[in-house]
Amino acid sequence: MSADPSFGLTGETPARSAGRPQYSAAAHRPRASSTSAVEVRRSARRSRTVSAYREGDRTIVLIPARMSEAEEQRWVGVMLDKLAAQESKRVIGGGELAERAERLSGQYLDGRARPASVRWVTNQNTRWGSCTPAEGSIRLSHRLQGMPEYVVDYVLLHELAHLLVPGHGPRFWRLLEAYPRTERARGYLEGVVAAERLPHLPAARER
Ligand SMILES: [Zn+2]
Repeated sequence: MSADPSFGLTGETPARSAGRPQYSAAAHRPRASSTSAVEVRRSARRSRTVSAYREGDRTIVLIPARMSEAEEQRWVGVMLDKLAAQESKRVIGGGELAERAERLSGQYLDGRARPASVRWVTNQNTRWGSCTPAEGSIRLSHRLQGMPEYVVDYVLLHELAHLLVPGHGPRFWRLLEAYPRTERARGYLEGVVAAERLPHLPAARER
């Protein structure tokens, strides 16, 4: 399985440590509905237009007040697809990547991880991210581009944490417990790898 692209972050298992001083996994587990919540707001001022945007974990869909339930359902679906398509085309630039790293370090690692460089690389197909602590350099695989931002942030935070703690012992995973979407991001990446291994069914089998 050496050619398997899953190994970067997905081959790792968080260690269960008994005496966690500050964080409990349960307290930081994302609520099931929190990332998929859609809030529909009806507006009397709108007559025809529908729009949608993300607000934190939620998606807000603005529709005309008079729209029927059936139309509302249809439009919510359309707008969710549209947003997802837009987001999947968005590439985070190099400067923004460094800013994100700084923000994540400040938010989850007390600002202790200070990378000298953070960049995308295209020669990294077997790992999602890597770092060289001696240089303070972090590299993210371009395969992450187009994935949800919480996934990119997870990989970035993972590598930032490696600047502080090498390896994947309990101390390392404790650093990541504060990030509320660690489990979700790991599941997403596992799903990507699993999907690549699934047999490609004939088109007729798809809806
Ligand atoms: Zn790692």
